[in-house]
Amino acid sequence: MKKIGILGSTGSIGTQTLEVAEANGDLEIVGLAAGRNIKLLEEQIRKFHPRLAAVMDEKAAGELAVKIQDTNTKVVAGMDGFLELAAMEEMETLVTAVVGMIGIRPTMEAICAGKDIALANKETLVTAGHLIIPLAQEHHVRILPVDSEHSAVFQCLNGERSREVEKLIITASGGPFRGKKRGFLGSVTLEDTLKHPNWVMGQKITVDSATLVNKGLEVMEARWLFGVDIDHIDVVVQPQSVIHSMVEFKDGAVMAQLGTPDMKLPIQYALYYPERRFLAGERLDFARLASISFEAPDMETFLGLPMAMEAAKKGGSMPTVFNAANERAVAKFLRREIHFLDIYDIIRQSMDQHSVVKHPDLDTILNIEEETYQWIESRW
Ligand code: NDP
Repeated sequence: MKKIGILGSTGSIGTQTLEVAEANGDLEIVGLAAGRNIKLLEEQIRKFHPRLAAVMDEKAAGELAVKIQDTNTKVVAGMDGFLELAAMEEMETLVTAVVGMIGIRPTMEAICAGKDIALANKETLVTAGHLIIPLAQEHHVRILPVDSEHSAVFQCLNGERSREVEKLIITASGGPFRGKKRGFLGSVTLEDTLKHPNWVMGQKITVDSATLVNKGLEVMEARWLFGVDIDHIDVVVQPQSVIHSMVEFKDGAVMAQLGTPDMKLPIQYALYYPERRFLAGERLDFARLASISFEAPDMETFLGLPMAMEAAKKGGSMPTVFNAANERAVAKFLRREIHFLDIYDIIRQSMDQHSVVKHPDLDTILNIEEETYQWIESRW
């Protein structure tokens, strides 16, 4: 039995990871961690019997400890609890499925403890990729992508030589507002924004898909995961979400990975790599598939992508500012405190006021995250 832990077990990726574990029957869940949803976490504990459960919210952790007194699961709280879970001796792979930069420290802790990482939490690589990738190399651990686009690239690269890669082509659905212009975006609601055409995901990434910030984060994530320069990563809109991403090689050959939009495929692939297991669900039916179409992303309307590229090119601490500003702006949008287009303004102004720190260490990254939040709170 392979022993795994899940950070963010109560979220979209976390619950689907548990479904994959249940369907296969040979993954032992040794640790589960969540933010504050102890109702669902308790159900998961009673079903999967982990040795450790971590809850970020200290009060919720205390309540959970009382509720599950009759089980053998120990409850730990806060960041210290997450770090304890990340380094659990018996755990082999940690699935990082929390949302946001909160994932950086536990991911680094797990790497230092020699755990493989099944990585969904893209914000961690975006902001600390320059620390995490060398750390993983130093500790001989694998970072296996869970994000569908990165899993697709990873699958396309199977058996290939990385020096023969010409470029990565990351596909995008275009989100719910594809084809719309800025005037239209001025009046979109939270409900409109949360209606993703192809994927059912957590709220933050769904908003990020609508702004194209998510695609920008994915470009930055790809750069670290595959060691490819930003100028060799293209984005193409493929509205049906059939092609999950592609790799072009030096000789002009293009490899693509196709499938129905189901996150359980990349999750399962990361957990069993290089083995492919049966996965129940729909299959692509090419006779019924009317068309696969492509278009360039609208960089003038959906500013999330060009601003991300700019942050990536400036490098150093700028991706942290881009990401932290977006995290805070999306939280405000989800609380209906700002409009959709304000997300772009908050990111733009946060980046404009920041002077880049070239090689930020972990403390600098976390300080800049906090400073960015404070700067935003003093203005919006
Ligand atoms: P969800 O919002 O569905 O779940 C987030 C998880 O993180 C929950 O378990 C939540 O706990 C926990 N969490 C939230 N805030 C904190 C916090 N401050 N401290 C500790 N834990 C916290 O997110 P998704 O599953 O959609 O996304 C998770 C990550 O995976 C993101 O980085 C996203 O970009 C990435 N991803 C997601 C995809 C998807 O299909 N959903 C696809 C590709 C990548 P609680 O429920 O208790 O609040």
